[in-house]
Amino acid sequence: MKKHNFYAGPSILSEYTIKHTADAVNNFAETGLSLLEVSHRSKEFVAVMDEAQALVKELLDVPEGYQVLYLGGGASLQFCMAPMNLLRTKAGYLDTGTWAANAIKEARLFGDVEVLASSKESNYNFYPRGYEVPSDLDYFHITTNNTIYGTELREDPDVPVRLVADMSSDIFSRPVDVAKYDLIYAGAQKNLGPAGATLVIVKEDVLGKVDRAIPTMLDYRTHIKKGSMFNTPPVLPVYSSLMTLRYYKEMGGVKAMEKIDLEKAGVLYDAIDNSKMFVGTAAEDSRSIMNVTFVMTPEYKELEKDFVDFCAARGIVGIKGHRSVGGFRASLYNALPLESVKALVDAMAEFEKQH
Ligand SMILES: *Cc1c(COP(=O)(O)O)cnc(C)c1O
Repeated sequence: MKKHNFYAGPSILSEYTIKHTADAVNNFAETGLSLLEVSHRSKEFVAVMDEAQALVKELLDVPEGYQVLYLGGGASLQFCMAPMNLLRTKAGYLDTGTWAANAIKEARLFGDVEVLASSKESNYNFYPRGYEVPSDLDYFHITTNNTIYGTELREDPDVPVRLVADMSSDIFSRPVDVAKYDLIYAGAQKNLGPAGATLVIVKEDVLGKVDRAIPTMLDYRTHIKKGSMFNTPPVLPVYSSLMTLRYYKEMGGVKAMEKIDLEKAGVLYDAIDNSKMFVGTAAEDSRSIMNVTFVMTPEYKELEKDFVDFCAARGIVGIKGHRSVGGFRASLYNALPLESVKALVDAMAEFEKQH
């Protein structure tokens, strides 16, 4: 039986994605070849890449003037690629978690970085608000969902400068006003496909404004010019991502996904709030609907490991918290069914009753 998969990334993919990827691994687009052994320049794969770009534009309602790319190197490569392509003198960042801090570290290699707000002092348990964004910045960078700490910004900020966002762990979980952003990036392995591809949505006219020499592979313009085919793209992750995008479209798009995601998160947060054993770690106004972080109250603390084992025995996997928060983290990505959340909530209630 399929397990209830709460892993944070790589993470659960839709059955649709897995099935169609498996089919293509056996026989890709009736070519009599495996997806793993075809040329990325074959007309069948070029059609996959084209549709994978077009569906992102359709699902996120991407305006004219933006390009959709599938690159390698993970979201982590974007931590340096973004400043390399956009940072002239100074950028502003929000320090909202480990990934944000990693992005800040890389940006500092290319110019001044002003941290406009940070929640580090409280172990990143809230999403900062009320900060000022100076108008002399080249861009402002946010991490919309802090995968490790379970905090999220579910709105698109209005800022007087270019806006760059790492949406690795919440892209496609809500409609996004892409016009407010100049660069959006996301590693595929949370809400899109297998590890190995990074989705980039970039506004074309923000490029070419820095003086530094940019290595060919790290210049967004290279990949725009070649339609993400400058070098061999991650063929299988792109194919699987396309299957997920088709699935999202079939489900009714990102608005429909958001409705289900809100329901799932609501069920789990209700269970946490009504429990005497479990307590959430993120401030209520910052709670993520993708990654729910919680711990046991001090009097039960020593039972945390037992609960992980208790869940495993019920086919519930991936709930052990990240070491920087401890306790538990349940990742409720789009592909996770509501019934998995119910299984977890039932396990929590049962365990609490037993103790
Ligand atoms: C997982 C994650 C990353 C790192 O992605 P890689 O593809 O492993 O480099 C970066 N940012 C966020 C928000 C993430 O969740």
